[in-house]
Amino acid sequence: MDIIVVALGGNAILQKGERGTAEDQRRNIQRTAAQLAGLVQEGYRLVITHGNGPQVGNILIQNEAGRGKVPQMPMDICGAQSQGMIGYMLQMCLRNALRKLDLDIPISTVVTQTLVDKHDPAFSNPTKPVGPFYSKEWAQERMASHGETWIEDAGRGWRRVVPSPEPKAIIETPSIRRLVDEGHIVICSGGGGIPVVELEDGSLVGVEAVVEKDLSAEILASSIGATSLIILTDVNGAALNYRDIGERWLGQVTLSRLADYYHESHFFEGSMRPKVKAIMRFIEHGGKLAVIASLDKARDAALGQTGTRIIG
Ligand code: ADP
Ligand code: MG
Repeated sequence: MDIIVVALGGNAILQKGERGTAEDQRRNIQRTAAQLAGLVQEGYRLVITHGNGPQVGNILIQNEAGRGKVPQMPMDICGAQSQGMIGYMLQMCLRNALRKLDLDIPISTVVTQTLVDKHDPAFSNPTKPVGPFYSKEWAQERMASHGETWIEDAGRGWRRVVPSPEPKAIIETPSIRRLVDEGHIVICSGGGGIPVVELEDGSLVGVEAVVEKDLSAEILASSIGATSLIILTDVNGAALNYRDIGERWLGQVTLSRLADYYHESHFFEGSMRPKVKAIMRFIEHGGKLAVIASLDKARDAALGQTGTRIIG
Protein backbone atom coordinates (compact mmCIF):
# COMPACT_ATOMS: atom_id res chain seq x y z
CA MET A 1 0.00 0.00 0.00
CA ASP A 2 1.15 3.48 -0.82
CA ILE A 3 2.31 5.75 1.97
CA ILE A 4 1.29 9.38 1.54
CA VAL A 5 2.56 12.26 3.59
CA VAL A 6 -0.09 14.95 4.01
CA ALA A 7 1.10 18.37 5.18
CA LEU A 8 -1.74 20.41 6.66
CA GLY A 9 -1.60 24.20 6.45
CA GLY A 10 -2.63 26.60 9.18
CA ASN A 11 -6.21 26.75 7.80
CA ALA A 12 -6.69 23.06 8.66
CA ILE A 13 -6.66 24.08 12.32
CA LEU A 14 -7.62 27.78 12.38
CA GLN A 15 -9.32 30.04 9.86
CA LYS A 16 -8.17 33.62 9.26
CA GLY A 17 -9.59 35.95 11.88
CA GLU A 18 -10.40 33.27 14.44
CA ARG A 19 -9.00 33.70 17.95
CA GLY A 20 -7.96 30.12 18.40
CA THR A 21 -10.27 29.02 21.18
CA ALA A 22 -10.44 25.28 21.83
CA GLU A 23 -13.83 25.26 20.08
CA ASP A 24 -12.43 27.06 17.01
CA GLN A 25 -9.62 24.57 16.68
CA ARG A 26 -11.77 21.51 17.29
CA ARG A 27 -14.36 22.61 14.72
CA ASN A 28 -11.73 23.11 12.03
CA ILE A 29 -9.91 19.91 12.89
CA GLN A 30 -13.16 17.96 12.67
CA ARG A 31 -13.61 19.21 9.12
CA THR A 32 -9.99 18.34 8.33
CA ALA A 33 -10.37 14.89 9.90
CA ALA A 34 -13.33 14.14 7.63
CA GLN A 35 -11.12 14.89 4.60
CA LEU A 36 -8.32 12.69 5.96
CA ALA A 37 -10.69 9.84 6.79
CA GLY A 38 -11.78 9.90 3.15
CA LEU A 39 -8.16 9.24 2.15
CA VAL A 40 -7.85 6.38 4.62
CA GLN A 41 -11.03 4.87 3.19
CA GLU A 42 -9.39 4.96 -0.26
CA GLY A 43 -6.70 2.67 1.15
CA TYR A 44 -3.80 5.08 1.60
CA ARG A 45 -1.47 4.78 4.58
CA LEU A 46 -1.25 8.26 6.05
CA VAL A 47 1.50 10.20 7.73
CA ILE A 48 0.18 13.60 8.75
CA THR A 49 2.16 16.72 9.50
CA HIS A 50 0.86 20.21 10.29
CA GLY A 51 1.73 23.85 10.95
CA ASN A 52 1.75 25.36 14.45
CA GLY A 53 2.30 29.14 13.96
CA PRO A 54 -0.76 30.57 15.75
CA GLN A 55 -0.67 27.90 18.47
CA VAL A 56 2.97 28.43 19.35
CA GLY A 57 2.32 32.20 19.21
CA ASN A 58 -0.39 31.79 21.85
CA ILE A 59 1.83 29.59 24.03
CA LEU A 60 4.49 32.34 23.89
CA ILE A 61 1.88 34.87 25.06
CA GLN A 62 0.85 32.56 27.93
CA ASN A 63 4.51 32.28 28.88
CA GLU A 64 4.89 36.04 28.91
CA ALA A 65 1.70 36.48 30.95
CA GLY A 66 3.01 34.04 33.54
CA ARG A 67 6.29 35.92 33.95
CA GLY A 68 7.34 36.01 37.61
CA LYS A 69 4.74 33.38 38.56
CA VAL A 70 5.92 30.25 36.74
CA PRO A 71 9.24 29.60 34.97
CA GLN A 72 9.47 30.70 31.31
CA MET A 73 9.92 27.95 28.74
CA PRO A 74 12.30 28.24 25.78
CA MET A 75 10.95 28.02 22.21
CA ASP A 76 11.86 24.38 21.66
CA ILE A 77 9.74 23.33 24.63
CA CYS A 78 6.87 25.59 23.44
CA GLY A 79 7.13 23.78 20.09
CA ALA A 80 6.86 20.41 21.84
CA GLN A 81 3.79 21.63 23.73
CA SER A 82 2.11 22.68 20.48
CA GLN A 83 2.84 19.28 18.87
CA GLY A 84 1.18 17.49 21.78
CA MET A 85 -1.82 19.81 21.78
CA ILE A 86 -2.51 19.65 18.03
CA GLY A 87 -1.60 15.95 17.88
CA TYR A 88 -4.17 15.19 20.54
CA MET A 89 -6.94 17.07 18.74
CA LEU A 90 -6.12 15.44 15.39
CA GLN A 91 -5.85 12.01 16.97
CA MET A 92 -9.26 12.23 18.59
CA CYS A 93 -11.11 13.86 15.68
CA LEU A 94 -9.60 11.43 13.17
CA ARG A 95 -10.54 8.44 15.33
CA ASN A 96 -14.10 9.74 15.55
CA ALA A 97 -14.26 10.35 11.79
CA LEU A 98 -12.92 6.85 11.04
CA ARG A 99 -15.42 5.24 13.40
CA LYS A 100 -18.23 6.74 11.35
CA LEU A 101 -16.82 4.85 8.37
CA ASP A 102 -16.49 1.67 10.44
CA LEU A 103 -12.72 1.88 10.30
CA ASP A 104 -10.67 0.96 13.34
CA ILE A 105 -7.06 2.02 12.76
CA PRO A 106 -4.48 2.91 15.44
CA ILE A 107 -3.40 6.56 15.39
CA SER A 108 -0.18 7.77 17.05
CA THR A 109 1.33 11.20 17.53
CA VAL A 110 5.12 11.33 17.65
CA VAL A 111 6.79 14.34 19.26
CA THR A 112 9.39 15.07 16.60
CA GLN A 113 12.82 16.68 16.53
CA THR A 114 14.25 18.02 13.29
CA LEU A 115 18.01 18.12 12.95
CA VAL A 116 19.44 21.40 11.63
CA ASP A 117 23.06 22.38 11.00
CA LYS A 118 24.46 24.65 13.71
CA HIS A 119 26.48 26.37 10.97
CA ASP A 120 23.37 27.04 8.85
CA PRO A 121 23.66 30.63 7.54
CA ALA A 122 20.10 31.27 8.81
CA PHE A 123 21.50 31.50 12.35
CA SER A 124 23.24 34.75 11.50
CA ASN A 125 20.20 36.11 9.64
CA PRO A 126 16.93 35.57 11.58
CA THR A 127 13.89 36.18 9.34
CA LYS A 128 10.90 34.25 10.72
CA PRO A 129 8.50 36.34 12.88
CA VAL A 130 7.19 34.57 16.00
CA GLY A 131 4.80 35.51 18.78
CA PRO A 132 2.83 38.72 19.30
CA PHE A 133 3.59 42.38 18.57
CA TYR A 134 5.23 44.49 21.27
CA SER A 135 6.27 48.10 21.84
CA LYS A 136 9.58 49.52 20.67
CA GLU A 137 10.76 49.82 24.28
CA TRP A 138 10.07 46.16 24.96
CA ALA A 139 11.87 45.10 21.78
CA GLN A 140 14.91 47.22 22.63
CA GLU A 141 15.05 45.79 26.14
CA ARG A 142 14.96 42.20 24.80
CA MET A 143 17.61 42.92 22.19
CA ALA A 144 19.92 44.40 24.81
CA SER A 145 19.34 41.89 27.63
CA HIS A 146 18.71 38.63 25.71
CA GLY A 147 20.54 39.20 22.42
CA GLU A 148 17.31 38.55 20.50
CA THR A 149 16.54 40.01 17.06
CA TRP A 150 13.39 42.12 16.68
CA ILE A 151 11.99 43.95 13.65
CA GLU A 152 9.42 46.65 13.13
CA ASP A 153 6.45 45.37 11.16
CA ALA A 154 4.87 48.10 9.01
CA GLY A 155 3.20 50.11 11.76
CA ARG A 156 1.81 47.08 13.60
CA GLY A 157 4.56 47.10 16.24
CA TRP A 158 7.71 45.15 16.96
CA ARG A 159 8.04 41.42 16.56
CA ARG A 160 10.71 38.93 17.40
CA VAL A 161 12.33 37.12 14.46
CA VAL A 162 14.15 33.80 14.72
CA PRO A 163 16.32 31.84 12.29
CA SER A 164 14.66 29.48 9.79
CA PRO A 165 17.36 26.88 9.10
CA GLU A 166 17.13 24.04 6.56
CA PRO A 167 15.94 20.71 7.93
CA LYS A 168 18.63 18.00 7.54
CA ALA A 169 16.95 14.94 9.06
CA ILE A 170 14.00 13.87 11.16
CA ILE A 171 15.40 12.30 14.33
CA GLU A 172 12.37 10.04 14.90
CA THR A 173 12.36 8.57 11.36
CA PRO A 174 12.91 4.95 12.57
CA SER A 175 10.01 5.18 15.05
CA ILE A 176 7.69 6.73 12.45
CA ARG A 177 8.63 4.13 9.84
CA ARG A 178 8.04 1.31 12.33
CA LEU A 179 4.61 2.65 13.28
CA VAL A 180 3.61 3.01 9.63
CA ASP A 181 4.75 -0.56 8.92
CA GLU A 182 2.58 -1.70 11.83
CA GLY A 183 -0.43 -0.05 10.19
CA HIS A 184 -0.62 3.12 12.31
CA ILE A 185 -1.67 6.51 11.04
CA VAL A 186 1.13 8.75 12.30
CA ILE A 187 0.93 12.43 13.18
CA CYS A 188 4.43 13.89 13.42
CA SER A 189 6.86 16.69 12.63
CA GLY A 190 4.31 19.32 13.73
CA GLY A 191 5.39 22.89 13.05
CA GLY A 192 8.31 21.51 11.01
CA GLY A 193 9.58 19.60 14.04
CA ILE A 194 11.44 20.94 17.04
CA PRO A 195 14.76 22.23 15.70
CA VAL A 196 17.76 20.59 17.36
CA VAL A 197 21.48 20.74 16.63
CA GLU A 198 24.10 18.08 17.21
CA LEU A 199 27.03 18.94 19.45
CA GLU A 200 30.61 17.68 19.02
CA ASP A 201 29.94 14.70 21.31
CA GLY A 202 26.86 13.67 19.31
CA SER A 203 24.31 14.88 21.85
CA LEU A 204 21.32 16.93 20.71
CA VAL A 205 20.18 20.29 22.03
CA GLY A 206 17.08 22.33 21.15
CA VAL A 207 17.51 25.77 19.53
CA GLU A 208 15.42 28.94 19.23
CA ALA A 209 14.42 28.65 15.58
CA VAL A 210 11.54 27.60 13.33
CA VAL A 211 11.84 25.13 10.47
CA GLU A 212 9.44 25.54 7.50
CA LYS A 213 6.94 22.69 7.89
CA ASP A 214 6.78 22.11 4.12
CA LEU A 215 10.53 21.48 3.90
CA SER A 216 10.43 19.12 6.90
CA ALA A 217 7.47 17.33 5.33
CA GLU A 218 9.62 16.66 2.26
CA ILE A 219 12.52 15.21 4.30
CA LEU A 220 10.00 13.11 6.22
CA ALA A 221 8.31 11.85 3.04
CA SER A 222 11.60 11.02 1.31
CA SER A 223 13.15 9.32 4.33
CA ILE A 224 10.20 7.02 5.06
CA GLY A 225 9.85 6.06 1.38
CA ALA A 226 6.47 7.72 0.80
CA THR A 227 5.13 7.63 -2.76
CA SER A 228 3.26 10.94 -2.50
CA LEU A 229 3.66 14.28 -0.77
CA ILE A 230 0.39 16.21 -0.59
CA ILE A 231 0.64 19.77 0.71
CA LEU A 232 -2.82 21.05 1.61
CA THR A 233 -3.32 24.76 2.11
CA ASP A 234 -5.87 27.56 1.58
CA VAL A 235 -5.33 27.91 -2.19
CA ASN A 236 -5.56 25.19 -4.85
CA GLY A 237 -1.93 25.33 -5.95
CA ALA A 238 0.68 27.86 -6.97
CA ALA A 239 0.10 30.71 -9.40
CA LEU A 240 2.38 32.66 -11.71
CA ASN A 241 2.05 36.44 -11.29
CA TYR A 242 0.03 35.78 -8.14
CA ARG A 243 -2.57 38.52 -7.48
CA ASP A 244 -1.22 40.47 -10.41
CA ILE A 245 -1.95 41.05 -14.07
CA GLY A 246 -1.53 37.80 -15.96
CA GLU A 247 -2.15 35.60 -12.92
CA ARG A 248 -2.08 31.96 -14.01
CA TRP A 249 -2.66 28.95 -11.76
CA LEU A 250 -0.41 25.99 -12.40
CA GLY A 251 -1.80 22.46 -12.83
CA GLN A 252 0.48 19.59 -13.76
CA VAL A 253 4.00 20.85 -14.47
CA THR A 254 7.38 19.33 -15.15
CA LEU A 255 10.14 19.63 -12.61
CA SER A 256 12.32 21.71 -14.93
CA ARG A 257 9.50 24.09 -15.84
CA LEU A 258 8.62 24.61 -12.18
CA ALA A 259 12.29 25.17 -11.37
CA ASP A 260 12.35 27.98 -13.95
CA TYR A 261 9.30 29.64 -12.36
CA TYR A 262 10.86 29.18 -8.93
CA HIS A 263 13.97 31.07 -10.03
CA GLU A 264 11.80 33.78 -11.61
CA SER A 265 10.49 34.46 -8.06
CA HIS A 266 6.78 33.89 -8.65
CA PHE A 267 6.30 32.35 -5.22
CA PHE A 268 6.48 34.40 -2.04
CA GLU A 269 9.10 33.65 0.60
CA GLY A 270 7.66 32.20 3.79
CA SER A 271 4.41 30.98 2.18
CA MET A 272 4.29 29.46 -1.33
CA ARG A 273 8.03 29.34 -2.01
CA PRO A 274 8.86 26.63 0.56
CA LYS A 275 5.94 24.53 -0.73
CA VAL A 276 7.20 24.70 -4.32
CA LYS A 277 10.73 23.93 -3.12
CA ALA A 278 9.39 20.95 -1.15
CA ILE A 279 7.51 19.38 -4.08
CA MET A 280 10.53 19.83 -6.38
CA ARG A 281 12.87 18.21 -3.85
CA PHE A 282 10.51 15.31 -3.26
CA ILE A 283 10.50 14.42 -6.97
CA GLU A 284 14.30 14.89 -7.17
CA HIS A 285 14.59 12.43 -4.29
CA GLY A 286 12.58 9.79 -6.15
CA GLY A 287 8.99 10.59 -5.10
CA LYS A 288 6.18 9.63 -7.50
CA LEU A 289 3.65 12.41 -6.93
CA ALA A 290 3.98 15.82 -5.28
CA VAL A 291 1.00 18.17 -5.04
CA ILE A 292 0.03 21.56 -3.62
CA ALA A 293 -3.76 21.78 -3.35
CA SER A 294 -6.52 23.12 -1.17
CA LEU A 295 -7.67 21.18 1.87
CA ASP A 296 -11.15 20.47 0.54
CA LYS A 297 -9.67 18.78 -2.54
CA ALA A 298 -7.56 16.25 -0.59
CA ARG A 299 -8.96 13.23 -2.41
CA ASP A 300 -8.44 14.52 -5.94
CA ALA A 301 -5.02 15.79 -4.89
CA ALA A 302 -3.97 12.30 -3.76
CA LEU A 303 -5.14 10.95 -7.13
CA GLY A 304 -2.98 13.54 -8.89
CA GLN A 305 -6.04 15.17 -10.45
CA THR A 306 -5.98 18.68 -9.03
CA GLY A 307 -3.64 21.34 -7.72
CA THR A 308 -0.12 22.21 -8.80
CA ARG A 309 1.55 18.85 -9.25
CA ILE A 310 4.64 17.09 -10.47
CA ILE A 311 4.61 13.43 -11.39
CA GLY A 312 7.95 11.68 -10.96
P1 ADP B 1 0.15 27.27 5.11
O1 ADP B 1 -0.34 27.55 6.49
O2 ADP B 1 -0.73 26.31 4.36
O3 ADP B 1 1.59 26.91 5.04
P2 ADP B 1 0.87 29.82 3.87
O4 ADP B 1 0.14 31.08 4.18
O5 ADP B 1 2.23 29.64 4.40
O6 ADP B 1 -0.11 28.63 4.31
O7 ADP B 1 0.94 29.64 2.29
C1 ADP B 1 -0.24 29.73 1.47
C2 ADP B 1 -0.36 31.14 0.90
O8 ADP B 1 0.67 31.38 -0.04
C3 ADP B 1 -1.61 31.42 0.11
O9 ADP B 1 -2.70 31.76 0.95
C4 ADP B 1 -1.19 32.60 -0.78
O10 ADP B 1 -1.66 33.83 -0.26
C5 ADP B 1 0.34 32.60 -0.70
N1 ADP B 1 1.06 32.67 -1.97
C6 ADP B 1 2.23 33.32 -2.14
N2 ADP B 1 2.66 33.25 -3.39
C7 ADP B 1 1.75 32.51 -4.07
C8 ADP B 1 1.64 32.07 -5.42
N3 ADP B 1 2.57 32.36 -6.32
N4 ADP B 1 0.57 31.33 -5.77
C9 ADP B 1 -0.39 31.01 -4.86
N5 ADP B 1 -0.35 31.41 -3.56
C10 ADP B 1 0.71 32.14 -3.16
MG1 MG C 1 3.23 28.16 5.58
